[in-house]
Amino acid sequence: MLIMKQKINIFWMRRDLRLEDNHALARALSSGLPVRILFIFDDQILGKLDDKSDRRVTFIIERLKHLNHQLSGYNSGIDIRKGNSKEVFKKVFDEFDVEGLYLNRDYEPYAEERDTTIRDLCLESGISFQSYKDHLIFENGEILKNDGSPYTVFTPFAKKWKSALSESHFQNFNSEKLLNNLDRFNVDASSADLYSLTGFNKTEIVNPVPVIPDIETLTAYADTRDLPWRDSTTRLGHHLRFGTVSIRKVASLATKNSDVFLGELIWREFFSHILAHYPHVENSAFKKQYDLIPWRNDQRELERWKNGTTGFPLVDAGMRELTATGFMHNRVRMITAGFLIKDLLIDWRIGEAWFAKHLLDYELASNNGNWQWAAGTGCDAAPYFRVFNPITQQERFDPEFRYIKQWVPEFGTTKYPAPMTDHKLARLRAIDVYKSVLK
Ligand SMILES: Cc1cc2nc3c(=O)[nH]c(=O)nc-3n(C[C@H](O)[C@H](O)[C@H](O)COP(=O)(O)OP(=O)(O)OC[C@H]3O[C@@H](n4cnc5c(N)ncnc54)[C@H](O)[C@@H]3O)c2cc1C
Repeated sequence: MLIMKQKINIFWMRRDLRLEDNHALARALSSGLPVRILFIFDDQILGKLDDKSDRRVTFIIERLKHLNHQLSGYNSGIDIRKGNSKEVFKKVFDEFDVEGLYLNRDYEPYAEERDTTIRDLCLESGISFQSYKDHLIFENGEILKNDGSPYTVFTPFAKKWKSALSESHFQNFNSEKLLNNLDRFNVDASSADLYSLTGFNKTEIVNPVPVIPDIETLTAYADTRDLPWRDSTTRLGHHLRFGTVSIRKVASLATKNSDVFLGELIWREFFSHILAHYPHVENSAFKKQYDLIPWRNDQRELERWKNGTTGFPLVDAGMRELTATGFMHNRVRMITAGFLIKDLLIDWRIGEAWFAKHLLDYELASNNGNWQWAAGTGCDAAPYFRVFNPITQQERFDPEFRYIKQWVPEFGTTKYPAPMTDHKLARLRAIDVYKSVLK
């Protein structure tokens, strides 16, 4: 007996975990065919996470459950699977008569490689492959110098970015208004237990729901964003990372209310452009001569940095905040990174990997770009002779030790260790070592 397969379009959800203002979802839902939303727990990505209590996995699972709950109102849900993406798609293309696959572009090197494989599979199977911009306001290649070459300095990049911006970049795709066009199906009860499916444990998540900053927060941002003891930044990093909030909505607010905040969003795009145009930065210094630095890489010192027992209280507070919550304030990220690289002379890639393991908002491009900035090895980086002083930074940004006391309760008692280095000497040593490779 010939079984007629259901004719559908597929929207492949990845780092765009929202139903509203989702570009590719809106396009799929306007296509005239019922749309099935598919999410794949990719074995290759999960396999690289050695801690089974990874916050990012909990964040995704809880978000998928939330979306499924919303979708049950439309008698629909997300078809959640696990495996190698290509194998999963082969199976899905067998089960359904798929006309088109819709997705938002992901610019990380692994994602681009995976998506090329899936695009080829679609091509072989006669399925149209429709990819859209959703994660950035300007994607790689859209902001270039007049001669067509990529920018490597932030300020002119930001200037061009702003001059290219128009209201059309804030278009709301209103995908949430089209949800009646979803494929109707019962979410399999077993898929509700996504912890068993993935083999990961549930962990605590701080700031699980995006909070769109109000006008007051945004107008105060320029003056307060550097103070780690004030909860004055937006905490949108992981929401932008996983697409639980639309960049168009956030950038539109920023344009109207805070140029400094808009500047931070442009840094995010700048580093994405750098990674796309200079892929070697993933594993080596943007400025190649810096790969010659003879790092000390002392393991015991590294452990003290990781555990937050360096004896420099602002460094220790930041490192403990990171492992306890998956977040660290931006100013403190700069100070802890600078301390590892310059005071301890430990390879910035080791610090980068530690942040990548723990940050809930981990983005390859932003993490790498900021680490290279701190190391002085990147494009438009801090000059190598500028070495953060963790003590004067504390005096400026946490003068009453409020942030420090929150994360280092034993600070000020005999239990707290003495500083592990003499900062003045370490600074001179770092400058000498850097100079030696730049001759
Ligand atoms: C060593 C180091 C590593 C970092 N690693 C990451 C990372 O893996 N992922 C990440 O998103 N950010 C990273 N940052 C940048 C920044 O620290 C975080 O984006 C910010 O602290 C997130 O908190 P927030 O959302 O409250 O920030 P807000 O101050 O409210 O900023 C709003 C948004 O702007 C963007 N942004 C702000 N500062 C930067 C910046 N310097 N570079 C790129 N984007 C920025 C982020 O998307 C952020 O969510 C890193 C910074 C340093 C110094």
